Amino acid sequence: MSAHEGPGAAEPRREVALRPGYHSPQVEVEVRLNTNESPAAPPQAFLEALAAELASIPLNRYPDRQATALRAALAAHHGVEPEQVFCANGSNEVIQCLLLAYGGPGRPAMVFEPTYALHSHIARLTGTPVIEGRRDEAFCVEPEEVARTVARAKAAYGQTAPAVSFLCSPNNPTGGLETIESIQSLLATVPGVVAVDEAYGQFAPWSALELLGVEPRLIVLRTFSKTWAMAGLRLGYAVADRDVVASLWNVALPYHLDAVKQAAGRLALAFDAEMRARVAATVEERGRVSAALLELGVEVWPSESNFVLFRTGSAGGTAVWKGLLDHSVLIRDVSDWPGLDGCLRVTIGTPAENDRFLAALLQVLSAQPNRPWM
Ligand code: PMP
Repeated sequence: MSAHEGPGAAEPRREVALRPGYHSPQVEVEVRLNTNESPAAPPQAFLEALAAELASIPLNRYPDRQATALRAALAAHHGVEPEQVFCANGSNEVIQCLLLAYGGPGRPAMVFEPTYALHSHIARLTGTPVIEGRRDEAFCVEPEEVARTVARAKAAYGQTAPAVSFLCSPNNPTGGLETIESIQSLLATVPGVVAVDEAYGQFAPWSALELLGVEPRLIVLRTFSKTWAMAGLRLGYAVADRDVVASLWNVALPYHLDAVKQAAGRLALAFDAEMRARVAATVEERGRVSAALLELGVEVWPSESNFVLFRTGSAGGTAVWKGLLDHSVLIRDVSDWPGLDGCLRVTIGTPAENDRFLAALLQVLSAQPNRPWM
């Protein structure tokens, strides 16, 4: 046997396989309500400002490695110091940097399922073991479950575990919000850093950013992909204590943030009022869609976000999802995720898109013999 013929020598690491069903299929449809994006394009004035700025970007040069102007703008936006802001290519890359800096072999990350699948997936990619707790029936994180999960982490990995804890607030895909007390109590219970993923933070009445000055182990994650209507540009950031932020810069690749997105992010922040107007419109539509779903007789969970989780009972999640696809309406099938039996998640779109979704759902459910979901 040659030196290259060891068992599995040409195999990729096992952790790089995604859990089946993670990626939402990218298919051509008329109504796309599957990935929690903003249904509206960014404001026209923003696009014009970006086009004007593009002409002056020296594309032959590497970008500002520290994204100085963007971080200064974000710091001003949140009332913190630029040294407290780290930016990357989407909040997913922020999560990756966080796990590279604070996770790794023997340094477990703690998550509470069902939650955003990429927290545990990126953890595994970075060689970070994952300790899973469970949310209760209402998808809340109970303090007793936190205590049990932390105890399991310590028993397996020692007193410094868990090294990283994730809380998603509002939680994707269930839609509920964490309380300030639950985040404070998690910080008091764990020895490591606590990442509060606020990808949908603009929909929430309060933000963990409020705790930043007093909690040096807290990291708040934000993205431009949702309410800022810039999913195609891939920009996310963390706000945290300056030592935490310095450690995130240490693991980022040189020049990881291109000049175009640095400019786009900085310019977008001038359109805060437009962003807030979108949030208000989405919240209003969310109320309408939730009420209509209840009227159809399906189970609906309260949402503080731009999506709604619902369950059609015996009609079966995947069958309903496929039925909607036949009407050219794409939503998210989460029915095989742990704890989400039969559940589907719909992103709130424009009023016309929401009408298409509701009409298609009515038809799909009506086609079920004896309306068994009722
Ligand atoms: N966190 C949560 C909770 C999300 O739902 C998403 C996007 N689905 C992300 C992070 C990643 O967002 P980004 O586009 O900024 O990578």
